[in-house]
Amino acid sequence: MKKDTGQNRDITSQWRLQTQLVRGGTWRSEMGETSEAMFMTSGYAYDCAEDAAARFAGDQEGYTYSRLRNPTAAMFEDKMALIEGAEVARSTATGMAAVTAAMLSIVKAGDHVISSRALFGSCRYVIETLMPKFGVDFTLVDGSDHSAWKEAFRPNTVAVFLETPANPTLDVVDVQFVCDLAHENGAVVVVDNVFATPVLQKPIEMGADVVIYSATKHIDGQGRCLGGCILTTDALMDETILPFLRNTGPNISPFNAWVMLKGLETLDLRVERMCGNAAKVADALSDMGGLDFVKYPGRSDFAQHELAMKQMSMGGSIIALHVPGGREQAFKFLNALDIIDISNNIGDAKSLMTHPASTTHASVAKESRLELGIDEGLLRLSVGLEHADDLIEDLIQAAAIARITK
Ligand SMILES: *Cc1c(COP(=O)(O)O)cnc(C)c1O
Repeated sequence: MKKDTGQNRDITSQWRLQTQLVRGGTWRSEMGETSEAMFMTSGYAYDCAEDAAARFAGDQEGYTYSRLRNPTAAMFEDKMALIEGAEVARSTATGMAAVTAAMLSIVKAGDHVISSRALFGSCRYVIETLMPKFGVDFTLVDGSDHSAWKEAFRPNTVAVFLETPANPTLDVVDVQFVCDLAHENGAVVVVDNVFATPVLQKPIEMGADVVIYSATKHIDGQGRCLGGCILTTDALMDETILPFLRNTGPNISPFNAWVMLKGLETLDLRVERMCGNAAKVADALSDMGGLDFVKYPGRSDFAQHELAMKQMSMGGSIIALHVPGGREQAFKFLNALDIIDISNNIGDAKSLMTHPASTTHASVAKESRLELGIDEGLLRLSVGLEHADDLIEDLIQAAAIARITK
C-alpha cells in the first residue's frame, strides 16, 4: 500500500470539506486504483514469523486481524475523523453498536449518567435498561431545560448522552452549554449527531468529547448498508473505547465500510439538496393548513429556531408534523402517499415517512412517549432527493384523501 496525499493529515486538514469528503483518508495500492480498494479479508499473512511477532508487539506497522483493523474500514475511519475534526475515529457495524460501545466502555458499576430524554428508541433502551443492569444509575432530563441539566449532576456522574436534533421531535439541545457544565463536573459528553450529519453540525467544536454516527442514515444515504462510527480524542480512544472495541468486536464489514466511503464522496451534495427540499416541503405543509403543527428547525416558527441555526448550518432533512385525527388519520395519510414510502429509515435518497408511536418509538413506555410529545398524531418525514414539487404534490393529494383540511 502506498500512502496517498489523502493520508497526510497536515495537508488534508487544510482542505475544504468537499475536497476532504472526496479525497481525504485515501490509500492507494500498487494497482493505482482510483476508487478505494475493498479489502474483504479477515486475516493477514506475514513474510516471516519475526514480522508476525514484531507486528503483534507494535514494532512494525501493518495489519494483523480485521477485528483489530481492516484497511477499507481504516480509510472510512480516517475520512470520518478528518471531516469531523476529531483526532481519531473507529467504525462499527451499526449506529447502535457505536452508542453501546461508547457508553459501556466509559461507565462502570456505581457510576451515574445523564441523558436528554428525547432520544431514538434504542438509545433510550441503552440508557434506561442496559445501564441499570450493570449498576449504572441514570437521570433523564428535558434537554431544553438548563436548570434540569444543572440539578442532574452528582459526584459520580461520568457521562452525558444527548441527541440534537432529537428523533423524532427535533428538540434541540444547547451543546456548548451542556459540554461546559459536564466538564465542570468532570463528565464526558457523548453526542449522537445523526440527524444533523457531519456536514451541518460540529459537536467537537462545541466541546463534545465523543461524537456518534449511524452511517446507515445520510452517510450511506442510499438505503443499502448498516454502519456506525465513534469519533473522539486519541486519549479517550486508546485508553477507554478501543480496548472495548478490539475485544468485543462490533466491527463494520469491509464491504459496508467501502459503501460508506463511496457515500461520503457525495454527502455534502446530498445533504444540501435534502435540506433545500425539506425547507420547501415544510413551507408547503405549513401553507396547506389543517395540520396541528409542522416542525422544521430551519423555519422561523420553530420554537428553538435560533439555537438550531446557531448550531447547524442548515435546517436538516427531517420534518415532524402532526395530524389532528390521531392514529386513524395518520395511517390514512401514510396509506394515501404515492411517491413517499412508509418507512422508518432516514437520510435516504428516497423520501420516507413513519408514524413513530407505532414504529421507532413503539418500545418506549407510553407515558414516556407522551412526555416526549410522541402521540398518535405525530408523523416524521425524512425528505430525500426527489424533486420538491413532486413531494409537495404527493403530500397534498394524500392529505386530501385523509381529509386533513383547514
Ligand atoms: C438510526 C439512529 C441510530 C441507530 O443507528 P443504526 O445504524 O440503526 O443502529 C441512533 N441514533 C439516531 C438518532 C438514529 O436516527
